[in-house]
Parts: sequence; structure tokens; C-alpha cells
Amino acid sequence: MPPRPFAWPEPYRMAVSLTFDDGRPTQLPILVPYLAAQQVKASFYILPRVVAANAEGWRKVLAAGHEIGNHSHTHPCSGSHRWSRNNALEDYTLERISMDIDQASDALENLLGERPQTYAYPCYGTFVGMGIDRKSYVPVVAERFLAGRSGLSDVANDPSFCDPHCLLSYELDDRSPESAVKLLESAYQDGRWVVFTSHEVAPEPVPGKERYSTTLATLDAVIQWCQSKPDVWIDTLANVARAL
Ligand SMILES: [Zn+2]
Repeated sequence: MPPRPFAWPEPYRMAVSLTFDDGRPTQLPILVPYLAAQQVKASFYILPRVVAANAEGWRKVLAAGHEIGNHSHTHPCSGSHRWSRNNALEDYTLERISMDIDQASDALENLLGERPQTYAYPCYGTFVGMGIDRKSYVPVVAERFLAGRSGLSDVANDPSFCDPHCLLSYELDDRSPESAVKLLESAYQDGRWVVFTSHEVAPEPVPGKERYSTTLATLDAVIQWCQSKPDVWIDTLANVARAL
């Protein structure tokens, strides 16, 4: 497929979206006030039952200009994750994943008053089934959402070519500030869209969750780098996706 002609809206030459998954315990008390102080808008992908546990708190996050997107209803991942063995993507059909996603959109709309516009694939898994029955569920996401975020990438999204329903993302968890800035600098040269994924966010890695922790020092390095450049656009996944 040939690249589409593309230019970021003036005055920008690249975009950055920060995405935070699962509504982890550190997000409302630590991350949300931090983002408010930095005046940065981000995307949160949360299961309805987690939103329901503090609907008032998450409604305030939405009202502050952040995005709350769909992360499915039951968080199905590959059964290679032992904890997902009883809810494994390998055992899903396209019909079953569609129902799971629609149930989450309905529940989030009831809780928050707004239907989610983007989706984040739990554990970055974009397939259902196994072997000859294995199918991509990217089309299910494309039928329903403005954009979908996958992950575990070694390259940033090229806005002139990327699939908005299967966006690549870099993990910010367990990453040093220097490594994060290096990714941004290389994407800046090419005018790309960098999407970062985080889970817990705290001053120090959360004990026992180090692999899923982004430190405030790393997040700070990313935000300071973006805000030091007037041509870097930092915004929610939905807002940037609308520019594609
Ligand atoms: Zn998740």
C-alpha cells in the first residue's frame, strides 16, 4: 500500500500520546494530580468494574479532558499468561470478542455518560482462536472505534502508513528516562506518532509490580522533552487519531 499524503496540523511535526491501562491503584491518587499539574491530557483504558469501584473519581478524570477508552469487559489475554487460562483469546471467536467489547462500551457509557471512542487490546493481543482458526480481531475494533492501541513495538507509528486500529506502542513501564527520550528523538526526526503504554505510575517502582511500573522521573522526562518543543503535539489517542 502506498503511503498516504500526510501532514500534522500546524505547527506540529510529531505527536505523542500517553496511555495508562487497567485503572491501577496508583493512577487516581498519584498520576491524575501529576498530569493536572503538567497540563497534559492522556488516555486511560479501564474495565467497567474498575470504573464502577470509583465512578465519581473517574468521571472527574473525564471531565478534566482526559479520555477513558474501552479495554474490554473481561480482559481476555493469551492463555500463555496463566492467570488468563480460563479467559484465553485462544478460546475466543470473533463473535465472543465482539460481545465482550460491546458489553464494555455499554457499561462505560452507563457509568460515565460517554461512549468510549478508542480501544486498547488487553496484553496487546489482537487475535482470537488458534492455528487454522486463528483470526485477527482488528476488524472488530475498526468497525466500532476511531482507533485501537496494540503494543510491544520497536518502531513508532508512521502517520502516512499506520493502521489506526492497530497502533504500535512502546512500554514506558520499567524504562529509564534516557531510554524514553532516545525513542522520542528518533521519532521526531521522522515526524512520527509515539504512543506510550504504562500501568502503575509512582515515584518509585511499585514493589512486586516493577515490570508494570513507570516512575515519575521517566514520565517527567517524556513530558519535559515534549513541552520543550513547540512542534511536538501531546494529546489523547482519540484526539491525535482524528488528525490521521
Ligand atoms: Zn490491561
